[in-house]
Amino acid sequence: MNQYLKIDEWNIIEEGFNPDNNRASESIFSLGNGKMGQRANFEEEYNGDSLKGNYIGGIYYPDKTKVGWWKNGYPEYYAKVLNAPNWIGIKININNSPLDLAQCEIEDFKRVLNMKEGYLERSFTAVLPENKKISVNAIRFLSLTHDEIGAIKYEITPLNFSGNFTITMDLDADVHNEDANYDEKFWNEKEKFSLSDSQVFITAQTKKIGFIVGLGIDFQVFREKEIIKPETQEIKKNKYIAKTFTIKGNKKEKITIYKYAAIASSLNHKEEDLNKDLEKELEIATSLGFNKLLNEHKEAWNKKWKDSDIIIKGDTAAQQGIRFNIFMLNQTYTGDEKLNIGPKGFTGEKYGGSTYWDTEAYCLPFYLRTSPRSVARNLLLYRYRHLGKAIENAKKLGFTKGAALYPMVTMNGEESHNEWEITFEEIHRNGAIAYAIFNYIRYTGDERYLSDYGLEVLISISRFWKQRVNFSEPKQQYVMLGVTGPNEYENNVHNNWYTNMIASWTMEYTMYAIDKVKREDPEKYRKITDKLNFNDITETNAWREVVENLYYPYDSKREIYLQQEGYLDKEQQTVDDLLPSERPINQHWSWDKILRSCFIKQADVLQGLYFFEDRYKEETIKRNYDFYESRTVHESSLSPCVHSILAAKLGYEKKAYSLYLRTARLDLDDYNNEVAEGCHVTSMAGTYMSIVEGFGGMRIHNGKLHFKPFIPDKWDSYSFIVKFRDRQIKVEVDKEKTTIYHQSGEKLSLFLYGKEHQLSENENISEKIKHS
Ligand code: BGC
Repeated sequence: MNQYLKIDEWNIIEEGFNPDNNRASESIFSLGNGKMGQRANFEEEYNGDSLKGNYIGGIYYPDKTKVGWWKNGYPEYYAKVLNAPNWIGIKININNSPLDLAQCEIEDFKRVLNMKEGYLERSFTAVLPENKKISVNAIRFLSLTHDEIGAIKYEITPLNFSGNFTITMDLDADVHNEDANYDEKFWNEKEKFSLSDSQVFITAQTKKIGFIVGLGIDFQVFREKEIIKPETQEIKKNKYIAKTFTIKGNKKEKITIYKYAAIASSLNHKEEDLNKDLEKELEIATSLGFNKLLNEHKEAWNKKWKDSDIIIKGDTAAQQGIRFNIFMLNQTYTGDEKLNIGPKGFTGEKYGGSTYWDTEAYCLPFYLRTSPRSVARNLLLYRYRHLGKAIENAKKLGFTKGAALYPMVTMNGEESHNEWEITFEEIHRNGAIAYAIFNYIRYTGDERYLSDYGLEVLISISRFWKQRVNFSEPKQQYVMLGVTGPNEYENNVHNNWYTNMIASWTMEYTMYAIDKVKREDPEKYRKITDKLNFNDITETNAWREVVENLYYPYDSKREIYLQQEGYLDKEQQTVDDLLPSERPINQHWSWDKILRSCFIKQADVLQGLYFFEDRYKEETIKRNYDFYESRTVHESSLSPCVHSILAAKLGYEKKAYSLYLRTARLDLDDYNNEVAEGCHVTSMAGTYMSIVEGFGGMRIHNGKLHFKPFIPDKWDSYSFIVKFRDRQIKVEVDKEKTTIYHQSGEKLSLFLYGKEHQLSENENISEKIKHS
């Protein structure tokens, strides 16, 4: 836990510079615009501890894997998001000594992430040798409206002296990934050149795959309000190009530098057009100018907040926490169908920026509620496009006939994770991809998605499940052996209840989808069956046989589902039996001890009861919740939100709130002393859901919205906005009542505390708050 940031509704504020917090702040103050992102590194030279990071969505490197013991079926490489060429550099030399915050005294340091308007601001006074003082104010953003443009306004004022300022505006492709497996640099330079006194360009290519990234910069310099055109010189080094100039800095006169950057890649541009396209983007940036660009960007953020804000009154820390989560999610993904959401977003190298089941199980519901439908749809299409690779992946492991196993970790559809217990065994991820199709259609009503794309994916996943189970003679039932459930503190277990459950559900849902598409669009159905060489009679008969005869571990004494066979053979303890000094257990216990213990890393049986709550009686959910919550250590950030939502459903309001608090400010207060590596972006969607589904009780039943809100004691009121089937609804909850506003779209019928209401646009309905 490290609480050094100020509490504020809309801003993240750091006052005073403590180099020990710098890496953490670089993560927390990160910027992103869906297409690219960067850590909050300094523009000027900094020789203190720092994780330099610029990331461009979809540009990755297949770094050759390092494993102790190679196993057939492992992928050859681990795909990782690349630290991309850096464009932010503004190096300052004053009378020949560099401005470096690691080398000078600093006064009045302040770093502010303005979440409302989407920019980063930093100001400080540096005390240089001979007590010469300069003040600096820098504003930086990655444009939401022109997503290949970044801009900086950098103001320097010599406070008590006049002197020579040598300023270098650079582009640096000589960067490295800290997580490189063999300490190798991943970029080759392709070309670099300048086009004018103020414009330089560099193009770099990844050593493998050959992704090309091009960057161009342009700049303007002002003394107070007057533009000056200093004579510049070019500096060229290996993978580096810059323009440098020297100007006189007069006491108390502000020098303002505007640096514009265009950043583009071969993912979206033809190689031969790249330089031209960069020039065009730079032209747009300079002709609009910093203020106009920033104003457009602010306007775009304003729109994002109108669609996704949660307002909490009476608890500023909670308000800041939830806004930070929403801000990060909106910075990370804006709907590009080629991109996805890494667990750390654009804030660090950990998890390689790759796609995990986190997207389908946790993030999708956030984007469904807060963005145009196409955004969530594109997340599904990303997996649809990877279907071929998922089939190849399953084939590599010995599955046949078009069975698909989606990877646990991926950049391009191929598996890029090498730990047998995860790569081969954590197969529940396949189910989350099927569940996301169901969830998307249930939410949007976009039934066409099933015949256009969804059914192909569902059939291929169901084929996998059918082949992954086997018939057990002693049990006379189907079993699924050797798996890892969501709880990664157990490996190679038999009949993980959650995995069996989601496998069986996928087959059932696929059969439902087959009937539907066959009935409603026979022509399309024939095309799909031809394409997949699918025999709907024999294959669905085999699935049905599995669905009807799958084994689920159950304890009839406690009347609970067992996480896996033999779970109760473990010594049963609860989290209260652990000493505070033993937690988190993953930092204090051997892996062997963890595997043999009954402690649970993250929601597992409860993940299933959360996804499929409609199938279970409330008492059943309650018995399982009581049993498993007391054994769960929540050492994955994805865990507390699911427990919080279930606790809210069961009327455990205080517990729901305390679980919510575990993730709401996880990064801002650095609960686990690890934010330096990056922020927990995917679990932020879970935190959002803890409010909307947990406290707000939002559900969809039979295509209709239901709400059952309560309010945490500490809050005076809260409100959220959700999009639902081309309508926008606002839910406002205070200590006395819940009010639902129909803000836009056609008439809608919805349920509040179980009672149905019809609402037309601009109408609202209020009910007295109900506590369980
Ligand atoms: C969790 C996984 C998750 C991954 C990335 C792990 O710690 O156990 O469920 O997919 O982190 O967020």
